[in-house]
Amino acid sequence: MQEKKRRRGLSIMLELVVLVKPLLHIMLLAVLLGTIGYLCAISLTIIGTELLLYGAGAVTSLWFGMTVRKMFVLLLAAAVARGILHYAEQYCNHLIAFKLLEIIRHKVFTALRRLCPAKLEGKDRGNLISIITADIELLEVFYAHTISPIVIAILTNGLMTVFIAHFHPLSGLVAFAAYLIVGLAIPLYNGKKTCDKGMEFRTEMGELNSFVLDSLRGMDEILQYGQGENRKKQMNERARHLSFLQQQLSRREGEQRSFTNLAVWLASFGMLFLNMHLYQSGEMGFADMVLATIAMMGSFGPVIALSSLSNNLNQTLASGERVLTLLKEQPQVAEVLPEPERNLNGSRHFTGAKMAHVDFSYDNREEQILSDYEIQIEPGQITGLHGASGSGKSTVLKLLMRFWDPQRGEITLSDRRISEIPTCQLRGAESYVTQETHLFHDTIAHNIAIGKPGASGEEIMEAAKKAAIHEFILSLPEGYDTPVGELGDTLSGGERQRIGIARAFLHDAPLLLLDEPTSNLDALNEAMIVKTFKESCHGKTVVLVSHRLSTLRIADRIFEMDRVR
Ligand code: ATP
Ligand code: MG
Repeated sequence: MQEKKRRRGLSIMLELVVLVKPLLHIMLLAVLLGTIGYLCAISLTIIGTELLLYGAGAVTSLWFGMTVRKMFVLLLAAAVARGILHYAEQYCNHLIAFKLLEIIRHKVFTALRRLCPAKLEGKDRGNLISIITADIELLEVFYAHTISPIVIAILTNGLMTVFIAHFHPLSGLVAFAAYLIVGLAIPLYNGKKTCDKGMEFRTEMGELNSFVLDSLRGMDEILQYGQGENRKKQMNERARHLSFLQQQLSRREGEQRSFTNLAVWLASFGMLFLNMHLYQSGEMGFADMVLATIAMMGSFGPVIALSSLSNNLNQTLASGERVLTLLKEQPQVAEVLPEPERNLNGSRHFTGAKMAHVDFSYDNREEQILSDYEIQIEPGQITGLHGASGSGKSTVLKLLMRFWDPQRGEITLSDRRISEIPTCQLRGAESYVTQETHLFHDTIAHNIAIGKPGASGEEIMEAAKKAAIHEFILSLPEGYDTPVGELGDTLSGGERQRIGIARAFLHDAPLLLLDEPTSNLDALNEAMIVKTFKESCHGKTVVLVSHRLSTLRIADRIFEMDRVR
């Protein structure tokens, strides 16, 4: 992902804006409310000035022949409307933002499902976590505080330019130039300066997340090998670098604020001098001179909002980029969608599996894991796979599951290429027990039931019995309802493994792939499981990976992995 070229800010913005499409009507409402709100705010100063001018006798009549009383009512109405409109605009913006975050989170999870599991094996999980949590969260700034302020500023300051130009075109031109400098030139310049730092900050943050997660996971090892101080030092270094980056970003923010203020004051004085000159040369009346100057001074609000946006915008865009890149990432294995009219490979038609002339290497292509590999998995038999560690036994199972596609060769299930079988059908036809069983924070019963959603209590118990874990579960305080989260790591490796096996038994697919199912079991439990395998796998097709010949003795045929490392 990192190696992908950094997208240009504008194209990221456009891509993010496209996501607003379903909520466009609310966005338009927000823009309308925001623009009218700002105009109300600006009109407060203009109405006030008009009243002062009237009071001082500089104008003989108020606008449209209104009375002072009516002008005060107008002033009050504008003030109240400003408050209500601002509230309504913010409400709409946040409604859009949080709805969109929901949509984006959904998209990200869909993308993860698509990319799973091949991509995730190598992916740095901490980074992924920060994309899913922090990065998506930061997009709120974009949706609630970026898009509509830009449109609002264009509309409001566009109208103000016309308003000021009606006093004198030259004043209008100066106002327009000032708005451009404050709302466009300064943010662009600032954005350019902080772009890399913003990106670096987010990446470093992601890496720190990974580091913390990694340290927490490996706490036992860190303590045992006395690496605590070392890890702490590394963590401090990372945190220090992060705070250094933060400082630089804050400094830039300060500079940008000063620049903006300076520009606003210079433009205001420039306008005052220009209007005074126009007044002296008789091109503008006294009241117009005051009104045009005050109107411009009071109308910087929307562009100042844009100017300060650029500080966060870089980080927001960096986050947006990471999210968009994840959404666009191509899966290693394209999902095959179901074809309702074809129902091949149903469990009753299972006729075995085959790998022929398979060449396979993981991402780094130099290391060939399998070359011209062949295996025939006969239906109704237990096929054993034996070989040294790292010889590619688990890889064979992952290829049969189609977590990866081989570079060459053919893998078939019931004489149909697995790359053509709809993914959900393929998953339904195979049960895979991995070397490491992951247990979710849920009850033991639910953890087993993952193998078959909606399974009854009896079915779950039956599966547990087959996996020789039933007695153990009954000995727990709440039996099958014991939450696994509470047990945490107190379940032994063998117990976890047997829960994984129970899951696979419950899944009841015609092809059972077992990766070292007995590696964590003692001889007694191994013998029990092997016995139940023999009994309950009767008529089932099983691929049994093990380096223990005692487990493999139930196999009808044993294939030796010849890749010696
Ligand atoms: P063991 O008996 O230790 O489980 P194995 O025979 O199951 O070993 P595999 O897990 O298939 O071995 O791994 C075969 C080779 O592929 C190893 O050298 C391993 O480092 C490499 N490998 C495994 N998974 C990946 C991956 N996701 N990306 C890159 N290389 C990998
Ligand atoms: Mg393995």
